[in-house]
Amino acid sequence: MRVHYNFPDIPQMKDFSFDVENVNDKLITKFHGSKAFLFGPPLKLYFSYYGSKRLRPVMKREDGNIYSLYLPPIPSQAHVHHMETLIRNWLFKEARPLAVTVAVTSRCQLECVHCSAASPHKAGPDMSRAEIEKVINESVKLGVSNITFTGGEPLLRNDIEELVALVAQLNTVALIFTNAMALSEKKALALKEAGLTAVFISLDSPEPAEHDRLRGWKGSFQAVREGVQNAIRAGLAVCLSTYATNESVKKKALSKITALAAEWGVHEISVFDAIPTGRLIQNEDIMLTEGNHLAICKEAKELNRRYNGRLRIVTQSWTNTRSGIAILIGCIAGHLQFHVTSDGEFTPCDFTPLTFGNVKSNSVKNLWRKVIEHSAYNHHCRKCRMQTAAFRKKYIESIPSDANLPYPIAMIEMTDSPELCPRETELITRNL
Ligand code: SF4
Repeated sequence: MRVHYNFPDIPQMKDFSFDVENVNDKLITKFHGSKAFLFGPPLKLYFSYYGSKRLRPVMKREDGNIYSLYLPPIPSQAHVHHMETLIRNWLFKEARPLAVTVAVTSRCQLECVHCSAASPHKAGPDMSRAEIEKVINESVKLGVSNITFTGGEPLLRNDIEELVALVAQLNTVALIFTNAMALSEKKALALKEAGLTAVFISLDSPEPAEHDRLRGWKGSFQAVREGVQNAIRAGLAVCLSTYATNESVKKKALSKITALAAEWGVHEISVFDAIPTGRLIQNEDIMLTEGNHLAICKEAKELNRRYNGRLRIVTQSWTNTRSGIAILIGCIAGHLQFHVTSDGEFTPCDFTPLTFGNVKSNSVKNLWRKVIEHSAYNHHCRKCRMQTAAFRKKYIESIPSDANLPYPIAMIEMTDSPELCPRETELITRNL
């Protein structure tokens, strides 16, 4: 498959375009125009990384190979859109988001011990279909090429297929985070037909009884197993989404989950850190030690080598390091991503209980601007802000204990503190 990449909306790149073709899993690039000598070499380097021996695709599809579920298939129209945002940010110092997570409902069948969406008070009514469509359209216009529906449990929304279809029509990748309880064969097929790329299915433990205990429902592990099979049969890419604790690192849970994932035919495993937020906001003792962050990176590196070409393991511990391209990722809140809660509150990420306003009364562009101009988010931060003591002290510990979440950041005194997090890759300008 060959895809033509051009960026007519970037004035400096009007006289430049290129083609990317997948030939036997190698990405062949051909550059055109008078600026080819300037932009060609770095782009050639970028594409040669994908399809190299070190990074084999985890899924081969008609519309481009998938190297990670955090990236659009390559080459594809969604990837053209993704590249446009990367180029704007990297070459022209703009500050556009690549991804958004949208909670489409607060309803859920389960009561997980660690739920990050839970608030001490009930969330307001779920956004209407028109309100979610507004978020989708405005986000894509701003540069987003990856929209993930979360909840609650997104499959409880009757119009989830229509929402997925809208995202896919906009040359954007649609993903869903689910507990798999409602991921029947019929549902998986309907989602695939609507244009869904992948499901992220939550698995808290490789031990069925422990997963059921953490999810508060006997049979939830079995639902995961069946949901994975239904999704794979429907042609969807599948990621097992899990989180690491100091206890799970000791038990080598990641190796066990990886063995299970390989047996089930899963394409990726995404390992988040245990973060004191939602139902566990007061439990700072759940945070991983520095030694365990390193242990996860080491274990994942070894597993990625072993399973290269079958499945990929992506860990938050790694994205928060300085190794390789991780240094460009770091904390993505207000840098590459934002989150919209089920009742429309605009937060820097789905683990940060601070709101900058509501999409029902403000545009996505205005709210994003508020985030990137705020002193807590106007710079790149390698470490997870929600796991940084100074950030928590200023922004999380100041939230009144009886407040509804997310709490308006404007209510917390705005003072510039250089110690909030290490400013390593300062952005020179933050344009939109
Ligand atoms: S604060 Fe940053 S690193 Fe931490 S969970 Fe949110 S986006 Fe990820």
